[in-house]
Amino acid sequence: MKILLTHCDYIEYEKKKKAIESAEQTDTDKERIEECLVVFCSAEQGDDESVAEKTVAEIKKVAEQVHTKTIVVYPFVHLSSTPAKPAVALSIVIKIAQSLKKDYEVHRSPFGWYKSFELKCKGHPLSELSREIRSAAQEKTILVNKPEKKDPQASRGKIILDRRNLPPNDHRILGEELGIFHLSEEVGAGLPLWMPYGETLRNILIQFMRQIEEKYGYRYVSTPHITRGHLYEKTGHLPYYKDSMYAPMNIEGEEYYLKPMNCPHHHMIYNKMVESYRDLPLRLAEPGMTYRNELSGVTYGLIRVRAFTQNDSHIYMTPEQLKEEFLGVLRLFKEVYAIVGVKDYWFRLSLPDFKNNPDKYTGDPNEWAHACDEIRNAMKEFGTKFVEEEGEAAFYGPKIDVQIKNSLGKEETIATSQVDIVVPKRLGMFYIDANGDKKTPIIIHRAILGSYERFVAYLLEQTEGKLPVWLSPVQVKILSLTDRNAQRVKEIYEKLIACGVRAERDLRQNTVDYKIREAEMQKVPYTIVIGDKEEASGTLAVRARGEKPRFGVSTEEFLARITKEIENKL
Ligand SMILES: [Zn+2]
Repeated sequence: MKILLTHCDYIEYEKKKKAIESAEQTDTDKERIEECLVVFCSAEQGDDESVAEKTVAEIKKVAEQVHTKTIVVYPFVHLSSTPAKPAVALSIVIKIAQSLKKDYEVHRSPFGWYKSFELKCKGHPLSELSREIRSAAQEKTILVNKPEKKDPQASRGKIILDRRNLPPNDHRILGEELGIFHLSEEVGAGLPLWMPYGETLRNILIQFMRQIEEKYGYRYVSTPHITRGHLYEKTGHLPYYKDSMYAPMNIEGEEYYLKPMNCPHHHMIYNKMVESYRDLPLRLAEPGMTYRNELSGVTYGLIRVRAFTQNDSHIYMTPEQLKEEFLGVLRLFKEVYAIVGVKDYWFRLSLPDFKNNPDKYTGDPNEWAHACDEIRNAMKEFGTKFVEEEGEAAFYGPKIDVQIKNSLGKEETIATSQVDIVVPKRLGMFYIDANGDKKTPIIIHRAILGSYERFVAYLLEQTEGKLPVWLSPVQVKILSLTDRNAQRVKEIYEKLIACGVRAERDLRQNTVDYKIREAEMQKVPYTIVIGDKEEASGTLAVRARGEKPRFGVSTEEFLARITKEIENKL
């Protein structure tokens, strides 16, 4: 559940048009409420009764702080990218309102309508707050305060991480402690800066994916970050995605947008490269940075961000190739996940719901049926576990999402593979088939690691920061016992670096215990200590992470061990 709390002089709203078929019927069409706390609520997938209770407690806390006795519960789906089903969301909102009624004057704006509204926020430091509330199973309430607007000098863009309720493996804590990423007040919320260690990790993952994808016939491309709005109009993204995109910039009298996805650019490359069915399948890939409009209050570490790099790919094919290409994607998921250590994942097959929501899906129903059947057949042939969900398909085709449980036990999507049977036609993409006829290709949009940001968050939480050797930004730390040992440390360091091992040395005059403790806190896989004894015998004292030190290890033995681990991606 995401809520946005606004302390207002007044709010005025009016029902305009049904947003969903099951929109709530109410007696009043419009209302004006003076001096109140407006709570915009967005119930999310996985929310249950315990969320309603916790939300009520949060609202009461804020109402008390701002001294108001009037609360307006305002359903507002746009705070979340994974909203709960309407029926569930409505029941949670009703429960919240009923529960608050005991102590407050409560108004509830009707559910499921497009509404016009106007409010006047009081503008004091507590007048705009956002909260993310998780269910009892997830057990944690994460508080991320919105930048306070009243006193810009004192609080401009403050990004506060409240650690009190977070588990120690929360990626925001680990990301800070291990020097992976930084959220700078000057840069803005949801715009993480990759620190040197983080960029090393991100780059290893990018290179790893490139290597494996090129082995499977993917071809890497690179595309710019801004694009003419004209292109997004043609693809149909503008009406569907405008809310998720940043406002356009005007260049020479024309609107350009920061790209919210890489697809249209790749489609233009298709148009340039493909003429006949012989050119298919074409698999394009790119670690493409994309930009999504998020409220600062809902941004969240590396998981909910405003700029992120997708492990993106588009596979273009004939309809006959769909099943085989989809199988190829499933095989890639399996191979990659086994190496990077994603365990306990399952697939969710999202299908259209033509009965209840026919307007959402465009295109030919027969083509939809073909795409759904082929994916389902591929999943069955692959023998993987999956659940089916009607009504969750994208507007352009059915998809599968890869689901995991995060460190809080909450279900999350880490990757996706979507079939697109609509946009190719809309863009006039084609190939010439064996009979010389013009045909429209099908596209698979897929991201095996999802976004590198989200994936690094997952890795940090999953491993509690103890990354495997091949992914560790620093694989070996070499410590000197005294100043006398500095030269020997340098020699070992250079040997390791020459073999492609990421090593660092610590020649500071602190005690060796202190330096070991620090290396442990950095969760470095191997620590080597060089003292007089090691110098005299020409050996190393090696401490593997979490283990007791081994003395008298030869440099060759250690090098053989660590290079083998790196090579085998352990
Ligand atoms: Zn795409």
